[in-house]
Amino acid sequence: MKITVDTGSCVSSGQCVLLAPETFDQNEDDGTVVLLTEEPSSGEEDAVRQAELSCPAAAIRLSGT
Ligand code: SF4
Repeated sequence: MKITVDTGSCVSSGQCVLLAPETFDQNEDDGTVVLLTEEPSSGEEDAVRQAELSCPAAAIRLSGT
């Protein structure tokens, strides 16, 4: 699995950070998503899929799934 995020679309909701905190963080200034790793551990993949589905801005894209 490889992750990309579109920080320009992100609305700083924080859903991804709550669901997959090893993969996503939020910018301290504006709350936009910060991608901690493009390739999550196998144990975090389900949480990353949930984050993609839960993102209100469709700012998370997964490939190789
Ligand atoms: S869930 Fe989507 S909109 Fe919310 S912080 Fe994460 S990437 Fe941004």
